[in-house]
Amino acid sequence: MEAGIVGLPNVGKSTLFNALTSAGIASENYPFCTIEPNVGAIAVPDPRLGVIRGFIQSEKIIPAILELVDIAGIVRGASEGEGLGNKFLTHIRNVDAILHVVRCFEDADITHVDGAVDPIRDIETIETELMLADLQSVESMRDKAARTARTGDKDAKLRLAVLEKCEALLAEGKPVRALQLDDPIEQKTLAGLQFLSSKRVLYVANVEEDDLEGKGPLVQRVRQRAEELGGEVIAVCARLEAELSELDEADRAEMLESVGLEEPALAVLTRAAYHLLGLQSYFTAGPKEIRAWTIPTGATGPQAASVIHSDFERGFIRAEVYSVDDLIELKTEKAIREAGRLRVEGKQYVMRDGDVVHFLFNV
Ligand code: GDP
Repeated sequence: MEAGIVGLPNVGKSTLFNALTSAGIASENYPFCTIEPNVGAIAVPDPRLGVIRGFIQSEKIIPAILELVDIAGIVRGASEGEGLGNKFLTHIRNVDAILHVVRCFEDADITHVDGAVDPIRDIETIETELMLADLQSVESMRDKAARTARTGDKDAKLRLAVLEKCEALLAEGKPVRALQLDDPIEQKTLAGLQFLSSKRVLYVANVEEDDLEGKGPLVQRVRQRAEELGGEVIAVCARLEAELSELDEADRAEMLESVGLEEPALAVLTRAAYHLLGLQSYFTAGPKEIRAWTIPTGATGPQAASVIHSDFERGFIRAEVYSVDDLIELKTEKAIREAGRLRVEGKQYVMRDGDVVHFLFNV
């Protein structure tokens, strides 16, 4: 699962990417500094890992990981090949969700490509490019679907109907993600069309240090837009987060306290991105490691096991499952078992977020 960071030049994408991945890539104060997309991995902070370790002795903790791509260089006209153009749109096609960074900070020293700070205009600039690219896709797919539909092909008819709905919405200047489809078959067809503007979006409002809660008027406007057209909003001061990411734990705690934050906003952002992607975690816990594994919401026991090793799905026999809350209450796995709270689950079991699992396999 991969999230892509997008946004206009100079809004703080690289700063945020660096803080998130601590990869130390270039962050220069001019457009197009990051020509190649940068891929990094971020640990998903999860307090439950520490809780488990409080009860089960283990050598190490391994958090879940989210992949992140910094997709720089989208400017007005990208869908027509302007700037670094279509290449970036292709990168967006490959990600599962979008983190759209919008500049909500004023800073006379940092040039804005359009001359002034205006997050709504910025969002529209980028989303217009995505929508224009989608309109091009619709046009090419629609004619083909119409031809096949005329032969009586049911799938093509369905595709055509969905494409026409998308086209109508795009023509109004609205992203495909704003399309409400009740029919699950239509929803599936839509998902298969892979529109850029259908991706789930988390707007990352890059705010001033004095508006960390995102109460200012610029962020409010972003929130309002997200409510109308789909998307979530989170306020982050990228520059502050970059500084925080370089500190050791003690200094970080001190700095967090001085600015009135409980934890780095990046921890909140990472969790929000994780949920946006429709992901959840389960845990394995033993003397060697306590580890969080990433699965899509709704995954079954065998599917969850396959994340550890692809052979495990086929060889799955059953899972022994308990929750972190059971552990907090009863303190040891032995006590959980004795209290009859260790659940034995079969192949149909749908995993719950935060399950602690022992799998039994046939290998
Ligand atoms: P990108 O082009 O979107 O990747 O933007 P960068 O991350 O390179 O940031 C552009 C400039 O804005 C750099 O000089 C950053 O130091 C600065 N910057 C990033 N975030 C903030 C912020 O939260 N506040 C202020 N004042 N400057 C920031």
